[in-house]
Amino acid sequence: MAIRNIVQVGDDVLRKKCAPVESFDEKLAELLDDMKETLAQANGAGLAAPQVGVLRRAFVVDVKDGYFEFVNPVIVKAKGRQVGEEGCLSVHGKYGTVERPRMVEVKAFDRGGKPFALKAYDFFARAICHEYDHLDGILYIDKATEIKADGK
Ligand code: ZN
Repeated sequence: MAIRNIVQVGDDVLRKKCAPVESFDEKLAELLDDMKETLAQANGAGLAAPQVGVLRRAFVVDVKDGYFEFVNPVIVKAKGRQVGEEGCLSVHGKYGTVERPRMVEVKAFDRGGKPFALKAYDFFARAICHEYDHLDGILYIDKATEIKADGK
């Protein structure tokens, strides 16, 4: 495993639409392992493949509900709303207020190509929506009603 460099806002790679993962191979496993390690080191809640410069539809989320990997995810249902603060490892030193659904139902594949579905609520749902947007070149700063410097 290796820590990968996290791309920062301003880099075009964050604004591109990612292609589906086609091969559930060792290269994918290595990517996900590296993303997990990179996320842990950055102490973040989620990391999407384009944030490490890979234009593929995959992201990882690490929240109190656990650590999850999503490959070729689709949000099949979204319900309710929550308004809260979020930040992004690619938008250093800022956070913003963003409205998200309170619940999302996601279908995706694991690293071995096995399909799964789950329902996520509250912060877990927020993290999934945030990472999912990255796969389409969308950043939270496009949706935030207010953006602040994080003061650290
Ligand atoms: Zn982000």
